[in-house]
Amino acid sequence: MSVATLTEIEQLIQDVQSFSPDADASLIRLAYDFSATAHAGQIRRSGEPYLQHPLAVAGILSFLKLDVTAIVAGLLHDTVEDTVATQEELEKKFGKDVARLVDGVTKIGKIPFKSYEEKQAENFRKMVLSMADDIRVVFIKLADRLHNMRTLEHLEETKQKQIAQETIEIYAPLANRLGMSWMKQELEDLCLQYLNPDAYAMLKLRVAKRDEERYQYIESVIAIACETLQKAGLSGEVKGRPKHLFGVHQKMERQGISFEEVYDLTAIRIITDTKLNCYAILGLIHSIWPPVPGRFKDYIATPRSNLYQSLHTTVLGPQGEHVEFQIRTAQMHRIAEYGVAAHWRYKEDGAITDRDEKVFSWLRQFVEWHKDLSDNRQFMDSVKLDLFHLDLFHDVVFAFTPKGEVKELPAGSTPVDFAYAIHTEVGHHCLGAKVNGKIVSLRYHLNSGDTVEVISSANQVPHKGWLKFVRTTRAKARIKHWLKGEEQKQGLELGRRLLEQEFRRHHLSSAQLFKSNELARVAQEFGVETVEELIRMVGYGRLPAMQVVTKLLPAQHSEPGKDESISEVLLLKPQPALLEAKAVKVKGSGDVLMQISKCCHPIPGDRIMGYITRGRGLTIHSVTCPNWEALDYEKERLVEVEWETDIQGTHAVRISVVAMNQTGVLAKVSSAISSCQANISRAEITTRDDGKAVLDFVVDIANTLHLDRMLQAIERVDGVTTATRRRGWQGSR
Ligand code: MN
Repeated sequence: MSVATLTEIEQLIQDVQSFSPDADASLIRLAYDFSATAHAGQIRRSGEPYLQHPLAVAGILSFLKLDVTAIVAGLLHDTVEDTVATQEELEKKFGKDVARLVDGVTKIGKIPFKSYEEKQAENFRKMVLSMADDIRVVFIKLADRLHNMRTLEHLEETKQKQIAQETIEIYAPLANRLGMSWMKQELEDLCLQYLNPDAYAMLKLRVAKRDEERYQYIESVIAIACETLQKAGLSGEVKGRPKHLFGVHQKMERQGISFEEVYDLTAIRIITDTKLNCYAILGLIHSIWPPVPGRFKDYIATPRSNLYQSLHTTVLGPQGEHVEFQIRTAQMHRIAEYGVAAHWRYKEDGAITDRDEKVFSWLRQFVEWHKDLSDNRQFMDSVKLDLFHLDLFHDVVFAFTPKGEVKELPAGSTPVDFAYAIHTEVGHHCLGAKVNGKIVSLRYHLNSGDTVEVISSANQVPHKGWLKFVRTTRAKARIKHWLKGEEQKQGLELGRRLLEQEFRRHHLSSAQLFKSNELARVAQEFGVETVEELIRMVGYGRLPAMQVVTKLLPAQHSEPGKDESISEVLLLKPQPALLEAKAVKVKGSGDVLMQISKCCHPIPGDRIMGYITRGRGLTIHSVTCPNWEALDYEKERLVEVEWETDIQGTHAVRISVVAMNQTGVLAKVSSAISSCQANISRAEITTRDDGKAVLDFVVDIANTLHLDRMLQAIERVDGVTTATRRRGWQGSR
């Protein structure tokens, strides 16, 4: 009777159906055909057809006993990246889930890799996990990497080293993190082979030689253990443990000990059926060989964070040699070997759709298996720890600096948060950012894998509006701190100016007063500690400057300022501030770095247009700005913008009023302006030869509607000929 050789794909289907009898074979075949067509003509470095690779990856996934969706995605995992096949095509033919898995694997493959320091590597591993909506993406990526490592010999040496380095820093620890110890060990051994070929060759030789020498001894220990178990009526499988070369190598390096010292330890594993039997067998082993003190570890009661469970003990075996035992149930063993993947084989129904469900179901199931342990604090804590880690990934993004450094930030973080994560000064001067080479708004929400280049300017300073969208407490704290310092500085300066003015009016010398102790005395009288604070109080408007003067001149009464003209009021006002950038929104995005142009100075209500300048971001001009022609603009740099609908605050506008030059006209016009709830921050009168006067004002108004209303009110004033808004800002004095 001859057994027909199965084709590789039929073998795969048979394997899958051996653990999942209902598996849809036609779907697997379809994926195979699709992949074969897509990769047709492509050859791997080994000379094999490319198809061998996805087939091998699917084989590893089948070995992990994953579901059909994952296996199909494994067959297709390189089609979108390396062939003409598209995401849409996959979705149409194989469904959303498969398409999404392939997309996830493709994305992880695109993350730039540079050699990382320890913390970086940990961030990176977390990032890989966080980017995978579905833990199966990570399984496929690991299977992909494992097969590439297994066939690494065909690449040139530099490439080998680079891939092995990435594997040892990222993927082996990732496999470990997911509790997939066999994969971790195989990856590590392969890495050692390429990263340190001499050490690998030496170890391989010595281990083989040693195993030969020790074969008899190990067999005798196993025989005694088996016999003891049988006599006690306990079932259990007793085995020697497979060798992990990298582990031996690491131990030698880290502890600075010889091969013999590491390797002399005989390692035996006993796999039994129940947890109770684990403890019973432990007692039995301890009864025939004395335990070495301090070497017993109960990872059943207290599992490791990757859910590893086992009892570990070292005993003085035959001839007084150290023998290490690991005792665990078959289920614990499966978890020790397959970790998270161990759970997947039970999920064949595909009933779980929610992505969180997918990530957590294994944990929940695990908790269910161990309900009887739920009162064990430590156990629960370790499970929580894992839940916490996994859960956090949904709330965390990992973004890169242009140098490849990873920053971990809460989800919803913006380029400003990123800038502050680099350095406070970088945050303070953050003007904009490029994400993956494209300019984005400061409110842009970063995604994992983004490379962020902060654009900064010495002139930029933190903005109060930033507090509304930054996400990290660090950024918030730094911005608030800066704003507070700034407020104090401004308060101090304004207070000083107010006092100086008040001193002048009373013919007091500011220079002398600020130097003397007089102000310190006044400060004390107001219950303030320092002169600086006194000045700030004046600046904040909590203490009228007049009152300070009164304390300095107790005998005299200050006379009311007889020439409190409008122009003097102006002195107290800071320069009209440029419109806040948040007042304007760019169509199709949030706010970007922008400034209101000084040539036409539009206000809310004006029709506006954005122009992307080189280096200064977006400038906002009025559509009627006379400078458009002079700008010599490039059409592709024009951006449609519009005002936000709920702009707070006022904006400075220049108006010009022509009136008969008669007494009282300034007062009347001023009062008309005030009656419209507009502030005058500057006034200037020019008398013309024709007997008319030109009154130039700078007023703070809300928008064009407000402005029109005010201009009409002014024109109704007796003696006024015209009231118009003046364009242009600079050089207007
Ligand atoms: Mn691949």
